[in-house]
Amino acid sequence: MSSSHPAAERFRAWFECTTPGCGARYELTDIVYHCRRCGGHDKRAGLLEVKHDLAALKRAHSPQDWKTLFNRRYLRTKWPYGSGVWGKKEWVCPNVDNHNVVSLYEGGTNLFWAERFGKSLGLNDLWIKLCGNSHTGSFKDLGMTVLVSMVKQMIHEGKPIRAVVCASTGDTSASLAAYCAAAGIPAVVLLPKDKVSLPQLIQPLANGALTFALDTDFDGCMSLVNELCRDETLYLANSMNSLRLEGQKTISIEIVQQFDWEEVDWVIVPVGNCGNIHAIGQGFLMMKEMGVIQRLPRLIGAQAAKANPLVQLYRRGFPDEPFRPLKAQTTLANAIQIGDPVNLFKAIRTLQQIPGSLVEEATEDELANAAALADRNGLFTCPHTGVALAVLLKLHARRLFAPDDRIIVISTANGLKFPDFKIQYHASKLQEVQPRYANTPIEVAADLDTIQRELDKRL
Ligand SMILES: *Cc1c(COP(=O)(O)O)cnc(C)c1O
Ligand SMILES: [Zn+2]
Repeated sequence: MSSSHPAAERFRAWFECTTPGCGARYELTDIVYHCRRCGGHDKRAGLLEVKHDLAALKRAHSPQDWKTLFNRRYLRTKWPYGSGVWGKKEWVCPNVDNHNVVSLYEGGTNLFWAERFGKSLGLNDLWIKLCGNSHTGSFKDLGMTVLVSMVKQMIHEGKPIRAVVCASTGDTSASLAAYCAAAGIPAVVLLPKDKVSLPQLIQPLANGALTFALDTDFDGCMSLVNELCRDETLYLANSMNSLRLEGQKTISIEIVQQFDWEEVDWVIVPVGNCGNIHAIGQGFLMMKEMGVIQRLPRLIGAQAAKANPLVQLYRRGFPDEPFRPLKAQTTLANAIQIGDPVNLFKAIRTLQQIPGSLVEEATEDELANAAALADRNGLFTCPHTGVALAVLLKLHARRLFAPDDRIIVISTANGLKFPDFKIQYHASKLQEVQPRYANTPIEVAADLDTIQRELDKRL
């Protein structure tokens, strides 16, 4: 291998229209979210995706050399390659100059071996990828570093961008606000009022973002952002901007890397706007194309039953017809309370490209109890991870998994961002939830004998 940092300039990536037969291409520094040739008023028409010059990547290194290069950089200090995202820069976003990279050392998160939890279920190889152990407490940091870095590059090149704007169910705005604050770029966030957790609200405020709390839901905030961003000086940071998905894609690569590049059998992903399941699937497909893995895992999309458009379409065999958005109902899994997912068709295409993939849902009761059960085994799970875990339990009851299957559950946010969810669960105050693992404080006199008596009763 020639050097540990092959000049990224040798590689190219661009936006390409996803409409079959269109193929229009745009520079990654163009301010464009929908194809100018075929994108109409429908927000899903003419969505773009980032494409890489795979032939050049293959010529540059053998599969083994790519693995060695990624391993050599992983969690080390050489800027910006110690980041889990930028350590794979050539596969993610070769177009950005290193001095414009805005990185907060994202990725490199623990792959938790759920040994006790798994064994209690008869699953010997169950793992939870703790993507929420991250700078702002959710996996959104992985994509945001790529988007904000490209914005910095664009500003550097003279583009008149005044601010970066997003609609959010709570985690995107926290991430955008932090990365923009670190880079000195103004951020604007539109949140559904009273629908995000208190930590999720205070994060963008603390980072100085202009924060609008609006009397609507996520889908309502999203339409407003779409209108706002017709003004090109306001750059759109939602996941229809596929730059973010390139960063999210590294989740798959990092998981395989953490198993010393061994393949995995199943990956379970909580699904809202459908960007991440698509990105994670694309990460596996790219690794297979590049010869880094020989076999794909099966993907499982997990939705809250209260906001389940993908489940409904899956059950009808992904019919070829225009999509009629749902009105998402209130769910504890607020970050995936989306009835009108922008990346729906990308996700469907990816699920169809990966044989044996499936989609399942979880009720409020199922997601809250699954999260609490995982906590009993040493985790501290957010409600979205609860959705994925509930789907794991459900499919396991249907005997989908063999005891030695290697199963990865994607944990998308840190449980500490959702204190109300935890407190109310253990106080038996959640609607539609019968808590099976509630644990409440024992309030007795501060007296040694009393405490010893209580212990004798309970241990
Ligand atoms: C964004 C998010 C998701 C869902 O990702 P999508 O790309 O919107 O499907 C799941 N969990 C958490 C915590 C999130 O913030
Ligand atoms: Zn097009």
